[in-house]
Parts: sequence; C-alpha cells; structure tokens
Amino acid sequence: MHRPRRLKITDLNPHLICVLCGGYYVDATTIIECLHSFCKACIVRYLETNKYCPICDVQVHKTRPLQNIRSDKTLQDIVYKLVPGLFQKEMRCRREFYAKHPEAQP
Ligand SMILES: [Zn+2]
Ligand SMILES: [Zn+2]
Repeated sequence: MHRPRRLKITDLNPHLICVLCGGYYVDATTIIECLHSFCKACIVRYLETNKYCPICDVQVHKTRPLQNIRSDKTLQDIVYKLVPGLFQKEMRCRREFYAKHPEAQP
C-alpha cells in the first residue's frame, strides 16, 4: 500500500540542482543534444575546455559546443516557483554585486 504524500522540496532537489556547482540553477541552460541542464555560467565555463556533457558524456557539438546549448526559461521558472525566496535572494545578490561593481552595470 502506497500512501499519498505531499511532495517535499528535498524530493525535487535532484531535478533543480546543477551538478557542476551543487546549487540551484541560475539562468538554467540546457544541452540540446541530451536535454541535461546546468547553470549558464557553469556550463559555459565547462565547455570552454570540454565538448562532452558532464552528465552523460554525449558530444555537445563537434567544434563549437556553445552553439548547442539553450536558455531554459521554463526550467528556470519552475526553480523559482519551487524554491521559496530564491528569486528574491538572486536579485539581492545582483543588486549587491552592481553596487560594488558599478562599472559592470549592464
Ligand atoms: Zn551550476
Ligand atoms: Zn547529457
């Protein structure tokens, strides 16, 4: 017998966490080839020296891996919806960053 139970955030965490940094996705970005997702900063940095997916080892692209990744807005929305306070925290981090580095203002 299976009793229905409420979904806990800890059950969902494995789907919301980037394997490269161990944190929640920031600017979730998905490899088109295998649909694995990472933070944008994490996967871009990783692909500077690798052409294979960190999870399943599929070749992202023969020569230019960055051409085969896409921002995953849907996934990012889910992360923000499911992780209370993450969006606010993120925005605060950005504000603090730009307050300290006004020259980096977009
Ligand atoms: Zn990451
Ligand atoms: Zn993969």
